[in-house]
Amino acid sequence: MAPFVETLNIRTHNDFDIVNITKQVNQVVKKSKVKEGQVIVFTPHTTTAITVNEDEPGLISDIIRKISELVPKGAGYSHDRIDNNAHSHILASIIGCSVTLPVINGRAGLGTWQSILFIELDGPRNRNILVQIG
Ligand code: ZN
Repeated sequence: MAPFVETLNIRTHNDFDIVNITKQVNQVVKKSKVKEGQVIVFTPHTTTAITVNEDEPGLISDIIRKISELVPKGAGYSHDRIDNNAHSHILASIIGCSVTLPVINGRAGLGTWQSILFIELDGPRNRNILVQIG
């Protein structure tokens, strides 16, 4: 059977943003009718990332603060000569552009405190997220 693929479209609102996309991903998994398998959540952009963690407001602001400190904006990067967003690209590479999760009983097999988090690193923008289930 061919994999089931759908693209989510989201709008981000800040320079850095973390958006919980678990509900949307599970809607696609449900639509696919796959009960056991795997789901790939992939962002096809060079200044966004995907991770899995707890969607707790304090933690979300901690992550944003810490990644801003880790790779500060405008710290003399070569890429800033053409685009002024080298820090966004670097963070996207460190965090990663996809996660693969098990599909268990027709849902993403996440732990109790886990959510699928989309990370905007150069917003605000319209963004796409590819969800493939097989
Ligand atoms: Zn760039």
